[in-house]
Amino acid sequence: MTKELTVKEWQDKDLEYIWHPCSQMKDYEELAPIVIDHGKGVKLYDIEGKEYIDIVSSWWCNLLGHSNEKINNKIKNQLDKIEHVIFANFTHKPAIELCDRLSKKLPEGLCKFNFSDNGSAAVECALKMSFQYHYQTGHPEKIRFMCFTDGYHGETIGALSVGSLDLYAKIYNPLLIDTIRVQAPDCYRCPYGKCRDNCNIECFEKAEKAFAEFGNETSAFIVEPILQGSAGMKIYPAKYLKKLRALCDKYNVNLIADEIAAGYGRTGKMFAVNHADISPNIMTVSKGLTGGYMPMAITITTQKIYDAFYSEYNDGKAFMHSHTYSGNPLGCTAALAVLDVLDEENILEKAQDMAPYLNNKLKETFLNHKNVGEIRSIGLINAIELVIDKKTKEEFDSKDRIGYQIYKKALQEGLLLRPLENVLYFNPPLTITKEEIEEAIIRMEKALEKILPR
Ligand SMILES: *Cc1c(COP(=O)(O)O)cnc(C)c1O
Repeated sequence: MTKELTVKEWQDKDLEYIWHPCSQMKDYEELAPIVIDHGKGVKLYDIEGKEYIDIVSSWWCNLLGHSNEKINNKIKNQLDKIEHVIFANFTHKPAIELCDRLSKKLPEGLCKFNFSDNGSAAVECALKMSFQYHYQTGHPEKIRFMCFTDGYHGETIGALSVGSLDLYAKIYNPLLIDTIRVQAPDCYRCPYGKCRDNCNIECFEKAEKAFAEFGNETSAFIVEPILQGSAGMKIYPAKYLKKLRALCDKYNVNLIADEIAAGYGRTGKMFAVNHADISPNIMTVSKGLTGGYMPMAITITTQKIYDAFYSEYNDGKAFMHSHTYSGNPLGCTAALAVLDVLDEENILEKAQDMAPYLNNKLKETFLNHKNVGEIRSIGLINAIELVIDKKTKEEFDSKDRIGYQIYKKALQEGLLLRPLENVLYFNPPLTITKEEIEEAIIRMEKALEKILPR
């Protein structure tokens, strides 16, 4: 079963076996899976050689382009040494070196690293860690979690419980733990009638109210700092985060910063919390961590939290949390290679230089379109929110699947754009060039015009 198959035969075989993620498989009857052969930089190529510009970084993880030579070579070298080893009582240079190098880039105070193999697992780890920390420091009453409405933290039961997107969570409601939801800032449709430049974080009163009522029983507040990714690349002010840090301190509530999507330069700084100049008590990283090469995530915390678990074995205070692939050497090696590229090639600075170019080009091209409500951006992330009416900001019915229709047209044009409902967005590899941006926008415009003509 190799070269002789036609594209159609590969697709049929795929559908015979594979249950794709986050998909209604019936949709594949009219849009068969694209069989990718290879990738280079921001581009993917299918087995017939058709090119796709990957402006979503293959679900936000491909940080530095596909098939990066430095990362490839480093992984190849590591592969001949050790592919994986049990991480309890054993260790290896790539993991140690990674923590050492990463610790110098982290917000102050974060210095203890607990490895897992995907973002949701890192979130579960953070929740358990926070719960057990309070339990072991004389606060067994702190058993609840606070989170934003519109948040997303992954799809395992605990992670879904602290997320709020009905699309992923609604059906599982009877299974989820009861969390306290705080109305998230919504700067495009501000309920206080403010806009981004004239606001005093009025919406923070919702958090204050929740803390007044539930702060004492709360273990942690988990946030996507600055950028609520899956909610439609919603961006909120750093000031909010600063106030939240202070409020968490006041109530002895751990602040968990889920940097899985926003970390690693996506918002223009190494970590999104850097915009607010704060440190969380616990931080999760994944996605960009290995440049999209290897499934790996880390839950990073402070000496203080770590110390609450440190005792004689028979005290039963250890964090008995593990994943088979914890600290995988190939993952750590990929993550080290990512840091090499970031440092040696000044990637963050270059991406920041490119950011206004992308944002201006998008505004020039799309802002006068009758269905473009807002173009918001931070770093190279740009979101175009489509609305029925610019003035009323009325939303398209999700049943019309406007985003999905545009997605299909974009694929025909050679663009991998995967809208979040009615929000089209760019979250490209940080290495994207001007030429690639221009070409992607041309393709995006063609796709949009076919569904929503001017
Ligand atoms: C993607 C994501 C996760 C979940 O990571 P997985 O590896 O898909 O489990 C968690 N939090 C945020 C903010 C994410 O964007």
